[in-house]
Amino acid sequence: MGFNWAMRSGITLTNATRFTKTQRIGDPLLQVPPARRGNRTGAPRSVPLAKRGNLRPCSVPLAKRGEPAGGGQFTNFARALGTSLLTIIILALVACSAPPKRTATAPTAPASPTALEPAPQGVLQVAFLDVGQGDSALITFPNGKTMLIDGGETSEGVALVGKLRRLGVKQIDWLVATHPHSDHIGGLIQVLKAFPVAEVWDIGMPFESPVYRDFLLAARGARSPDGKRPKFRVVRRGLTLEPAPNVRLSVLAPSDPLLKGTRSDPNNNSIVMRLDAPGGSFLFTGDLEREGRARLYATRPNLRADVLKVAHHGAENGTDRAFLSRVNPTVAVIPVGAGNRYGHPHRETLALLQGRRVYRTDLHGDIVMRLGADKKLQIATTRAAPAQPTAPTKPAPAVGVVIGNRNTKVYHRPDCRSLPKPQNQVRFRSAQEAEQAGYRPHACVQGE
Ligand SMILES: [Zn+2]
Ligand SMILES: [Zn+2]
Repeated sequence: MGFNWAMRSGITLTNATRFTKTQRIGDPLLQVPPARRGNRTGAPRSVPLAKRGNLRPCSVPLAKRGEPAGGGQFTNFARALGTSLLTIIILALVACSAPPKRTATAPTAPASPTALEPAPQGVLQVAFLDVGQGDSALITFPNGKTMLIDGGETSEGVALVGKLRRLGVKQIDWLVATHPHSDHIGGLIQVLKAFPVAEVWDIGMPFESPVYRDFLLAARGARSPDGKRPKFRVVRRGLTLEPAPNVRLSVLAPSDPLLKGTRSDPNNNSIVMRLDAPGGSFLFTGDLEREGRARLYATRPNLRADVLKVAHHGAENGTDRAFLSRVNPTVAVIPVGAGNRYGHPHRETLALLQGRRVYRTDLHGDIVMRLGADKKLQIATTRAAPAQPTAPTKPAPAVGVVIGNRNTKVYHRPDCRSLPKPQNQVRFRSAQEAEQAGYRPHACVQGE
């Protein structure tokens, strides 16, 4: 029964070994109490969200039925790579812009199992996309309509367009800019050039920045599916949408008048939305901070959601105990770049999220969730996460071949004399795994 996703969509799952490797049920990062874990070596599981307390999120790499074993994914990868390289060349010629660094490093990246597949008809899919230090999520509704919430930095635009194509996107029905910071709207500029867009949502807050100006220009210059211009909509609390039958999307914030004089007005005026579908709910929070949360509470919204897109990249000001108790998510997703200069996600946030399933784009890559007619949530990721304890009180399992310092993002040999304090240690199974998570080698490693 755990294979419902595969059966409904006509695709087959890759073998359980790969799933187990990706899933790593025992991964301390995920912090599920042992009594609830189970399925240590078994098949992918689906998650009945209605039955709280019996949740086993899963991570399910997929391969198309009929693809040659092994080589299929590489072929797809090579094809995707070829397409994106071609796109880069064309864009470089047209826009005279340097190719983004993430795409440029792609040829050396291993062909990884992909979770980026078009959503089957009748399934709600939410793909939290790895755009480095930024934020981006694509919702594909059961009727095929799409909503893109944010798009990472401008340098991520080409890669983002490639991911959207792999997800089967032909047009964007709603393109949402939660707030005008570049790590949310930059990549949307390329998206507006690449796809027909029906509606652009924005908070309409005066904001001076070259990226926001380019975003507005791109929105004005874009075309809609009917060959006209996208509808530009300044959204406020109270706007609701029924993008597909039985699916409801509600804008909870910002409200009028927009907040002023907060630590970050763009962040605190972020568009906050909840998505309700049979069997599950999602809360999208943009970069909402403390003052924005206080305003949100004043409107007495229903914040309870199964999946929380953690606010402000896991910053300490984006999450607190009161907020988590109102949302009470089973699954939390942190969109964050490896080794970012802000130290996101903050340790305080990770500590608060203990006991919930935590997915991070810096560790898991793209995180794709599906909710089908069986009302069970299934989760696949493009990358296996290295073991990373979030609980300083619990000793990390002795799986580490190298030991990272979560503060300095430097990793050491286990016998190094200057190991970080136990509470700052992150264990990786290999130096490669540490580097994939954005860690740099200490002299003890380089001396080898
Ligand atoms: Zn941000
Ligand atoms: Zn922001």
